[in-house]
Amino acid sequence: MKEVIEHLQTITFTMGDSVLELSYLIAAIFFVFGLKMLSHPESARKGNILAASGMLLAIVTTILFHETNGEPIKNIGLIIIAIAIGTILGWLIAKKVKMTAMPQLVSFFNGMGGAAAALIAIIEFPRMAPELIETQGMLNGQAISILLGLAIGGVSFSGSMVAFGKLAEKIGDPKLKFMRIINLAFLIGLLAFIVIILAQGHTQPREIIWMAYVLLGVSLLYGITFVLPIGGADMPVVISLLNAFTGVTAAMTGFLYHNQAMLIGGILVGSAGMILTLLMCKAMNRSLLNVILGAFGGGGAAAAHHEAGSVREITVSDAAILLSYSQKVVIVPGYGLAVAQAQHICYEMEKMLEEKGVDVRYAIHPVAGRMPGHMNVLLAEADVSYEKLIESDQINDDLPNVDVVVVIGANDVVNPAAMDDPSSPIYGMPVVKVWEAKNVIVMKRGMGKGYAAIENFLFFNPKTRMLFGHAKQSIQKLIEEIKSL
Ligand code: NDP
Repeated sequence: MKEVIEHLQTITFTMGDSVLELSYLIAAIFFVFGLKMLSHPESARKGNILAASGMLLAIVTTILFHETNGEPIKNIGLIIIAIAIGTILGWLIAKKVKMTAMPQLVSFFNGMGGAAAALIAIIEFPRMAPELIETQGMLNGQAISILLGLAIGGVSFSGSMVAFGKLAEKIGDPKLKFMRIINLAFLIGLLAFIVIILAQGHTQPREIIWMAYVLLGVSLLYGITFVLPIGGADMPVVISLLNAFTGVTAAMTGFLYHNQAMLIGGILVGSAGMILTLLMCKAMNRSLLNVILGAFGGGGAAAAHHEAGSVREITVSDAAILLSYSQKVVIVPGYGLAVAQAQHICYEMEKMLEEKGVDVRYAIHPVAGRMPGHMNVLLAEADVSYEKLIESDQINDDLPNVDVVVVIGANDVVNPAAMDDPSSPIYGMPVVKVWEAKNVIVMKRGMGKGYAAIENFLFFNPKTRMLFGHAKQSIQKLIEEIKSL
């Protein structure tokens, strides 16, 4: 006890240290509240600004007050230029990006986070390794956090870049045999290699530094083989998992630099990403191990052996009559609504039907569109009331009482194969059971498949009638007909 007190007495806190610690604490509080506010569309924008202000505070105070061995931070000019370039580029890209390309952007930004963490680790490791080896050998907290940061950051970077390419439809879903085994071997090899480096004890620093470069190379390769075979309906899980990886690497870096803001921010991103991953796994009926080993999902030609039957069409005027004289209508929006940018006109149709006394609600599937919360964001942009957006598993039980379900540009999320075809790649994924309603109108341009590239037998269901056309134009025509009734 006496030694501890004596040790504490030798530690001197400068004014700068206190300001730094306090600002990191405030930043961490901002992150926590910002994250909490992101969970509701009404407070999400403010939450984002709050968390970003926390980050700005942490950056500014670090530049002003951080000291290494009594020396202030050097190269401030270069740091400011780098921040300015990053900020301007990020701002311009985010401003210009189309809503439908948002998942690619998230994946790209996530990859940059992973790359930054891996770069920090690969720069710090050669600097720190000689001292670590001399004083305590390799098996210590600092070395573990650098090596894990390096490996996870590498996987996160290359994996996110492949995910970016896939979402931008520049990279396909190659069906590679034995991918599962290769990925498992890679993962075991990667972990074993980290253990080997840590077990090196007091060897020559030069050898260990080379090993760190090899580790980075293997991690980058694993990131590619991990994400490459994944496709179809499982992509959102992978993006969320990679996001969690980046959070963990940021936390490792925070641990390395004793930076609480970075540590807490990283833990928040890591745990939020992990929770979202697990929730999505549950929603899609996948095990996490299945995700980590990769090689699942993909298009597949499941259900192709079924008898397709015939498709029935509905005219705009018949659809308008059916909707106007209904009591309960549920709209199921999907990716096609986002592509068509039909959210505003859809809201107009909702208001018009409500004026006629129709109860209109929206069934929101967690992975409709191309990013988590895509439909919520899209409809909130069009001023649709948040109360009208009902999660698909909550609305499913009420669907038998619904007169008409209008599916607008959704496909996979209303595919009955997820419930009744065990050979389907989306089997087990909860879907909106639209076929349980009294009537179904599906608006899409043709018989195009959805993201999972599989047939949808909803379109051949006797209750379903197709209203073919670009969603925006179809809704426009419907509105004109409803007006004239
Ligand atoms: P889908 O991708 O399954 O289907 C969209 C449908 O919209 C297509 O079949 C297309 O048919 C139609 N469409 C396209 N453009 C238009 C248009 N202009 N007007 C009318 N219809 C149009 O969408 P869902 O929302 O049902 O499902 C999302 C899928 O994306 C799921 O498989 C999910 O796993 C996956 N995914 C989800 C992510 C997320 O986080 N939300 C991220 C990545 C993937 P047609 O060509 O005949 O018009």
